[in-house]
Amino acid sequence: MSHYILIVEDEEDIAENLRYNLERERYRTRIAQSGEKALRLALEKKRTPSLILLDLMLPGMSGIELCRRLRREPTTKDIPIIMLTAKATEADKISGLDIGADDYITKPFSVKELLARVKAVLRRVDSETVQKYEDDRITVDFIDMRAFCSGEEVKLTRKEFALLTYLTKNTSRVATRQNLLDNVWGYSYFGDTRTLDVHIRRLRQKLGECGKSIETVVGVGYRFVGFKNK
Ligand code: CA
Repeated sequence: MSHYILIVEDEEDIAENLRYNLERERYRTRIAQSGEKALRLALEKKRTPSLILLDLMLPGMSGIELCRRLRREPTTKDIPIIMLTAKATEADKISGLDIGADDYITKPFSVKELLARVKAVLRRVDSETVQKYEDDRITVDFIDMRAFCSGEEVKLTRKEFALLTYLTKNTSRVATRQNLLDNVWGYSYFGDTRTLDVHIRRLRQKLGECGKSIETVVGVGYRFVGFKNK
């Protein structure tokens, strides 16, 4: 089932534009033009949104207040929230993130940028619910942090395990060097990419015969292909 995104926005043009673009990406959407309505929709049983796009400037209950209320309710406290805000001061952004929003985007925003943020958040949601990668030869247990090749445990360092986790969670997709540095080393990492290549080389060596599941995409990065359907 596709993700359902709740759009909380009182400006009709913006709300409809968001709906159009999200539905084109095959997401299901609903629009709430006030905080009160949004709260009602978000709390509906069996129709919990995967993500909420929340305009901060709303008539009646403010976006900030709505965000607080959502964070208090057990069924909505973990729903990712991306704030849409015309306010662009650092203090505003920080107060929004403090009350539990996951990300914010400043108006006017490009649809392309918004969709990229939406996809990034939902990808994280999807990957958090997955506890294990498994194919004919490789098993990676994300909870116990253990990896196996043909039933034999492969002893990995934390970084190697984090790399393997990212690669397996993105099976068949190209992970660029920048993706890997951002996700495994963190945004603050500015070192050169040779560190990454060294880690990949060691990871492949440790995986032995399973090492060939990690392909090099020349000039771009790496791709985990696994052993399914081979
Ligand atoms: Ca508004």
